[in-house]
Amino acid sequence: MKLISNNPSKNNGILGEVEETTKEEILTKIKLARSVQSNWKNTDLLKRIQILRELYNVFEENVDKIANLISLEMGMPISQSKEEVESGLNYLDWYLNNAEKCLAPEVTFESDTEIHKVFYEPKGVVVSITPWNYPFSNLVWQSFQNLIVGNVVINKPDPNTPLVYKLLEEIISSSNLPKGVQQFVFGGSEIGQLLVEQDIDMICFTGSTRTGEYLYKVAANKMIPILMELGGSAPGIVLEDADIDNILESIYFNRFMNAGQICDGLKRLIVHESKFEEVVSKLKDLVESKIIGEAINENTDIGPLVNEKQLNTLLEQYNDAISKGVKVICGGKKPDNLNGNYFIPTILTNITKDMRVWKEEVFGPILPVISFKTIEEAIELANDTIYGLGGYVFTTDKAKFEKVSRELKTGMVSCNNLMYIIPNDPFGGVKKSGMGRNHGKYGFHELCNIKVITFEK
Ligand code: NAD
Repeated sequence: MKLISNNPSKNNGILGEVEETTKEEILTKIKLARSVQSNWKNTDLLKRIQILRELYNVFEENVDKIANLISLEMGMPISQSKEEVESGLNYLDWYLNNAEKCLAPEVTFESDTEIHKVFYEPKGVVVSITPWNYPFSNLVWQSFQNLIVGNVVINKPDPNTPLVYKLLEEIISSSNLPKGVQQFVFGGSEIGQLLVEQDIDMICFTGSTRTGEYLYKVAANKMIPILMELGGSAPGIVLEDADIDNILESIYFNRFMNAGQICDGLKRLIVHESKFEEVVSKLKDLVESKIIGEAINENTDIGPLVNEKQLNTLLEQYNDAISKGVKVICGGKKPDNLNGNYFIPTILTNITKDMRVWKEEVFGPILPVISFKTIEEAIELANDTIYGLGGYVFTTDKAKFEKVSRELKTGMVSCNNLMYIIPNDPFGGVKKSGMGRNHGKYGFHELCNIKVITFEK
């Protein structure tokens, strides 16, 4: 069986193909991972860091090549693909620079006669399953803290981006990373299911809540830990004192970047009634000034969706809102002059809570905007979701920001134009957005067995 790579910018024309991994190959990879794990674990941390630093340098030499393939294969505008690879490298750089500090044994108790220390030890063989929306960062976020702590990883990337991952596999195999420490398995959900059934010690998953619920049961049956970064429907709350002209770009960026295919994207905008008309009309002007086009063009702001399935889901969500009386402020259709999975960025008002664009995660360029009167109402609307990944609050009043941010049932909250996505910060959600955290010292510790040893003095 072959995985076919398509170009979403050009009517899904075929770009290439990659051989699917067979069951026998999966078993061989698991065996290899097991056999190299203790050597990798016993390799000195500084040596592991040095090997991975060399790999970092090779990735750095290949930024353009990786970014180009990302744009071709999944439709991310090229300027954003370059940023995505550079951002992934920035994370890797931070992990490498901070690992020693984050993984140093900690003294938890000391007396005249004894000393207690906590050690961070690797879990073993980790299966990581990743989506297609940020192909390079998805790999970095899920594999490299694992590799640094001494775990070995078998990654199954999404079948929508096989060529990117073949390139990443080639780069990794030509590095000094010992064979078997980072491996790849190519295939769709069935291959993923087969992989997690094997003899493994942990699952790291990034993807939809539906798949997360399935994998949680697999992990439970095996009694192994699972880290899950799942879907989101982040609220953006604009309070009455917000400086609208200052925050518009941030709202646009957090909703429409990567054609809205961002897990913690700002997916529901909740605006104080006094600012509602102004926000909607200024946002419309901003959105309409953006260029929709082929991902590979340098001046494209918004490219196509990754595949026809995602576009069809988006159309169903949009049509549901239309049937329930939504008002279309802009967009609402495919562009006439482009042949691919495009949808013009869309702003909707007259939102009701029974609409799919409100209740579900919308993984595309549609923004529902709703108004509120009191802060309590805004918080209730913001928390009216099964998800709890990110949250955005726009205000010039620091006290109000603190109050609202503490009330949001999410893993992360940002103020105005700030970003919470930096390698120092733990990334992850609550409710159906997942469990566990990537990045920072929290991310390292998540991937380790925490062992306490008591020493006589
Ligand atoms: P998906 O769950 O369908 O697929 C993700 C990965 O899981 C793919 O590699 C897929 O082949 C694999 N998979 C699917 N079913 C499986 C099964 N039963 N067993 C094993 N593997 C299986 O996700 P998607 O819809 O393609 O990706 C988009 C979703 O990912 C969105 O919901 C988005 O919010 C989420 N996401 C979350 C984060 C985060 O950090 N929280 C980041 C990126 C994307």
